Amino acid sequence: MASKRQIWVKDVPVGGGAPVVVQTMTKTETANVPATMKQIREVAEAGSDLVRVAVPREVDVEALKTIVAESPIPVIADIHFNYTLALKAIDAGAHCIRLNPGNIGGPDKVAQVAEKATAAGVPMRIGVNSGSLPKHLHELERKSPVEALVQAAVGFVELMERLEFENFKVSIKSTNVPNTIAANRLLASKVEYPIHLGITEAGTKWSGSLKSAVGLGTLLADGVGDTIRISLSTFHAEEEVKVAWEILKALRLRERGPVLIACPTCGRLQFDMDSVVAEIESRLEQYTEPIEVAVLGCAVNGIGEASHADFGITGAKNEGLIFAHGKPLRKVPQAELVDALFKEIDKSLDRGSIDVDASKAAEGAAWLRKIEDENADELTPERIAQMEAAAAAPSDPLAPSSPVSGRRFTRA
Ligand code: SF4
Repeated sequence: MASKRQIWVKDVPVGGGAPVVVQTMTKTETANVPATMKQIREVAEAGSDLVRVAVPREVDVEALKTIVAESPIPVIADIHFNYTLALKAIDAGAHCIRLNPGNIGGPDKVAQVAEKATAAGVPMRIGVNSGSLPKHLHELERKSPVEALVQAAVGFVELMERLEFENFKVSIKSTNVPNTIAANRLLASKVEYPIHLGITEAGTKWSGSLKSAVGLGTLLADGVGDTIRISLSTFHAEEEVKVAWEILKALRLRERGPVLIACPTCGRLQFDMDSVVAEIESRLEQYTEPIEVAVLGCAVNGIGEASHADFGITGAKNEGLIFAHGKPLRKVPQAELVDALFKEIDKSLDRGSIDVDASKAAEGAAWLRKIEDENADELTPERIAQMEAAAAAPSDPLAPSSPVSGRRFTRA
């Protein structure tokens, strides 16, 4: 149900089958150009494809000219109430205008913005928020907030079509997750334009990320949504971008940087996995390659996971076994585990291959076999899950017995 139409925000395609676009909004005073530019560079570095800045005053429009010229990513001007600011933002070079046709002063004002945007080739995002529905929908909102939201959005879409302006994406935002899901599903069945997704005022980093993951993740998994913004109560806009990427990566919609797999640990753990995982996670932030790194607390069944990932560690008592591309490489004391892992990652990324010391690999493999034999009867969390999956799945005689990642990466 992905949108059929595509628009371009400068050089970024949105909708029509393009990859889901990540965007965020700066939290600085826009007129403070150094602070705003610093934040824009930070969000661009974190992977934001687009950035939106609030333009509530004339001084912000003035600042916009510099911001647009210096920004490494396309800039969307966020306008409310004052249509003249929208006209001036287009003159200032904004790559897209976000406005709510319901609060900009009537259809004739929207028409003036649409006319100028058409002449400049600038797209718009039009949308409604649950907190600012038009008056004539307030009664419907009390009975059915979802229908009221969708009616408002469809009404705005029809207004833009009457104005012969079709270069837009549309959004319905609500603080309510089920309503956001239901309203966007309904909207996607009614319009062909790209859809911007977000849970408005989602909350703190912790609760807001979860709400966004549930709401946006559900829609994206259905194929609804062409661009996403995670709204978090933090002054660090790059945190919103990181959360957006985790959602897209979890759904395998886009790849960016490493994926870290780590077991939840249990009573079998015999090394300080907490600090090892934290160090690996922090060091992986420097990598842009979409490698999968698995850290498993024990050898009993962690071996399977570690060998399926591009790189992995299977822990044991104060030591661990390093894996790369499905191959056990060597045993390493805990204090050296993380360095040894990253040495293998760097070697592989630079050269596309790894060196296997046959005698150390054989020693590691023998060590694994011994531990597996010693624990053959253990019902670990992974074994229980495997048994349940095997019982549920039809047998496939052609299935490979030991899938191994064949991916290779080179450093960008
Ligand atoms: S049994 Fe599973 S959860 Fe427990 S330490 Fe080993 S890998 Fe981790």
